[in-house]
Amino acid sequence: SANEMKLEFDSRSCNEGFARVAVAAFMTQMNPTLEEVADVKTALSEAVTNSIVHGYEGEVQKIIVECRIEGKELRVTVIDKGCGIEDVAQAMEPMFTTKPDAERSGMGFVFMEAFMDEVRVESVPGKGTCVFMRK
Ligand code: ATP
Ligand code: MG
Repeated sequence: SANEMKLEFDSRSCNEGFARVAVAAFMTQMNPTLEEVADVKTALSEAVTNSIVHGYEGEVQKIIVECRIEGKELRVTVIDKGCGIEDVAQAMEPMFTTKPDAERSGMGFVFMEAFMDEVRVESVPGKGTCVFMRK
């Protein structure tokens, strides 16, 4: 049967590594390959970083990461209650970024889609963003 866990932490960049390691540890029960663990860690980092820098724009609020393992499948959801995304399809295009001045390259969603089997984004401007990923 399924196994679930949920993390809630402050949107500080120092917690990105914590979330990555916690999800990697939770995944070990699936007997994943090193490559699978690395893929999930990369995708999770991108989503959590987006919540920190875009969703909350550096303001410290809560990020939730939910994980569910069912058989050989891992589902990870990253949730913030930040500014939301006006146009999700546009945001997911390669090299689209609303912060071109900073060191952002607009490749976060491209990496998530490359490293996971499925990525779905639900966002409401002014309310927040959910990124659902499956591996
Ligand atoms: P990179 O990830 O390469 O550093 P980036 O973060 O701008 O650059 P993506 O991760 O692909 O690129 O995200 C594209 C755009 O989608 C962002 O520039 C931002 O406008 C928007 N976005 C992504 N995640 C969120 C979020 N959680 N809340 C609000 N806006 C977001
Ligand atoms: Mg990004």
